[in-house]
Amino acid sequence: MSSYSLPNSPIKDIKHCQKCGRVTLHFLNPKHDVIMQPEVWEKVVRKGFNIMRRYMYIPKELLDQDPKFF
Ligand SMILES: [Zn+2]
Repeated sequence: MSSYSLPNSPIKDIKHCQKCGRVTLHFLNPKHDVIMQPEVWEKVVRKGFNIMRRYMYIPKELLDQDPKFF
């Protein structure tokens, strides 16, 4: 998997493996669940957290209180 596009499903949980650095994304729809290598994850992050934020359950109040949350 050299490139990756986030599916149109909210992210429930993100887990980083301390041992190998792989990242597991759990989606609301579990069929989208994916384990990715650190390099792939970095690319996803580099695309911007603004994209991520669209898919994540972050209470609007929290973002308003602390824009540095991301
Ligand atoms: Zn691991």
